[in-house]
Amino acid sequence: MYETILSPVNYGGLQLKNRIIFAPTTFGLSDEEYLAEMERLAKGRKSGLTFAPEAGTQRLRDVINKNVTWDEIEKTCTIAFNAGYTSVKLYFMMGLPTETMEDIEGIAETAQKVVDLYYSNPRHAKGRGVQVTISCACFVPKPHTPFQFVPMDTAETLQAKQKHLLESVHSRKIKVNYHDSTTSFLEGVFAKGDRRLAPVIVEAYKRGCYFDGWEECFKYDTWMQTFADLGIDPAFYCQRPIALDEVTPWSHMDYGITHEYLVREYNKALAAQTTPPCNRACNACGANHLLGGPCFDYSQNLV
Ligand code: SF4
Repeated sequence: MYETILSPVNYGGLQLKNRIIFAPTTFGLSDEEYLAEMERLAKGRKSGLTFAPEAGTQRLRDVINKNVTWDEIEKTCTIAFNAGYTSVKLYFMMGLPTETMEDIEGIAETAQKVVDLYYSNPRHAKGRGVQVTISCACFVPKPHTPFQFVPMDTAETLQAKQKHLLESVHSRKIKVNYHDSTTSFLEGVFAKGDRRLAPVIVEAYKRGCYFDGWEECFKYDTWMQTFADLGIDPAFYCQRPIALDEVTPWSHMDYGITHEYLVREYNKALAAQTTPPCNRACNACGANHLLGGPCFDYSQNLV
């Protein structure tokens, strides 16, 4: 089965097994090349079209530096609907830094706009309805990223946002899936954890936590009891802000990108200022020191 994941501008095609994925690459396509490629794919099997807007409003997409606009989604969906596609999946994250309920409503509005676009297209598949699926993951702040400083949303906040999303969807053509926030919480704890968590892992293992990556084996209560019995507050690790000058358990690790760059990008994100991709301009993150020179030859036309 073929599935097409698209984020439309300057994305190169990458074929993995049976899925066709459009992912950001350093060798992007021009708009014309992109449209030609899209039309070629649209002539193939039409099982579904997947976008990852990640956030429901352009403001929040700018915060996370996600270069997808509604115009691009509209352009691609129009080509796909003309070619007979009837199913669209939209991937989002919930709990992103600076997110408000307006951004949550934007997720439902984006899905509704795709539904409306389908029915306003006179060339859509005859006699067939559209199915739009919203899939929402919980955002987990990770070390070595500009969002390492931000606290993760609490389970209560995420549940309130999930409820608001469900209430904001008014069409039966739209289905909503979201991830369980408890697994994301544990992921957030260990993502920004330190050596004090090692005994927790060993003890949880002794108590039967072996395959907790599998939903049916996930023993959240056992994990929470283990934290409590060892006197560790898991929320300390992922649900408090980290000061910009705080020494973290990963501060000593040098993978090229400088702390100053992370702080700069964090401040730009809060101001919803985007950063261009590396093939257009170097943003001086520091990683090129690992190469011993510039990452790209900007005298070439790389876009
Ligand atoms: S050094 Fe410049 S081009 Fe290289 S990864 Fe960092 S920002 Fe991108």
